Amino acid sequence: MMSAIRSRDTKPEVLVRKFLWRAGWRFRVCDKRIEGHPDIVVPRAHALVEVRGCFWHRHGWTWDGRKLVQEAVCDDATWPKSNRAFWNDKFRKNVKRDERHEALWLEAGWHVAVLWTCGLTPAKRDKTLAWLAKKLEKWSLRGAAKPRRRRG
Ligand SMILES: [Zn+2]
Repeated sequence: MMSAIRSRDTKPEVLVRKFLWRAGWRFRVCDKRIEGHPDIVVPRAHALVEVRGCFWHRHGWTWDGRKLVQEAVCDDATWPKSNRAFWNDKFRKNVKRDERHEALWLEAGWHVAVLWTCGLTPAKRDKTLAWLAKKLEKWSLRGAAKPRRRRG
C-alpha cells in the first residue's frame, strides 16, 4: 500500500532532485533514519523537501481532527465518483499520515518544504523551483529551525 503512494523516483521528484543537484545543493533521498522517510533531505539548509502527488495526498485538504476539510482548490485533487467511502478512508489516512510526519519534523527542528505535483508542470515548474531555491537559501543562512509546536 505504501509503495502505491510513496513510490520512489516518480517523475516530479526526479525533476526536483535534478534541479537541486544543478543548483549545487547536495541531498539524501528517502532517509530511513528520519521517521516518515522524507523524500529529500538537504542537510546544508536543515531542510526536508516533500514532493507530493495532488491526488493521493489531497492537495488543499487538511484533517481537522474529525474530517477532511478543504482549504484550497487543486484541480488534480478530484474525488472519484464511485466507492466514496473507500476513497474517503484512504485519503483521510494519507492526509493524517502526512500531517503527523510534518509535525514530527517541525518539532525536531527541520525546515519543511512541500512541493505539489500541480506546481511542477512545465508551465509552473520554474516558478515553483525558484520558490524552493529561495527557501533553501534563506534556511541555510538561518541554521536549524527552532523546534515548533504542531500547527492548528
Ligand atoms: Zn495540486
